[in-house]
Amino acid sequence: MGLSANLRTASVQVVNPAPLAGELLQGRTIVIDPGHGGYDPGALGKNSRESQLNLAMAEQLRRWFETAGARVLLTRSGSRDLPPHQKYRVQDRIAWINATQADVLIDIHCNSGGPRWSGPQTFYWDGAASYHLAHDVQQELQYFTGTKRAVTRIDQYVLRYARMPAINVEVGFITNPREESQLMNPAYQKQLTWYVFLGTERWFLKGRWPQRLLETPPPTRMLIR
Ligand SMILES: [Zn+2]
Repeated sequence: MGLSANLRTASVQVVNPAPLAGELLQGRTIVIDPGHGGYDPGALGKNSRESQLNLAMAEQLRRWFETAGARVLLTRSGSRDLPPHQKYRVQDRIAWINATQADVLIDIHCNSGGPRWSGPQTFYWDGAASYHLAHDVQQELQYFTGTKRAVTRIDQYVLRYARMPAINVEVGFITNPREESQLMNPAYQKQLTWYVFLGTERWFLKGRWPQRLLETPPPTRMLIR
């Protein structure tokens, strides 16, 4: 079937219009955990500390979710942030996360490695829900950055003990000078977190929309981003 025939068919099949933007995640609770903080700076770049970048990303991500109607909780930020010399116990952090009974946990970290390593990567520990969430988010990040990094399973304390679907988005390599300066740029933070948000939103919608609809290609105009 030719393209024009496809388009004609699509234009007459109006099935279950999508919920209005701005209401998609109404009633959902998202916990965002900017990794490290306080006494623990995480990985160090030339001009930044991971704990700062994680927090900046988390704040940007929070805005996207709030725009879509979700309730967002951060493990640290503002008055909840850790004083510079305070240590924290990861056990306490995960206990706090689980007490929120949120629908989803998104951990934010920066990766570290060789100076030329680059690209965001999404990790999960267990369960189909977390796997699919990681997959949907990584697909958006691949689209945004062109990275070939794929979803990977990792045994991290917070992911292991989270009682909700949980992922860790390593937003990029703080040890790569070029990527570090991107990660420090608020405009880039805003863009990258938009794609993390989009992937998460898509994952939520999959649970709500009928399989038949998911298997139908979207109308062409919806592919324009
Ligand atoms: Zn980290």
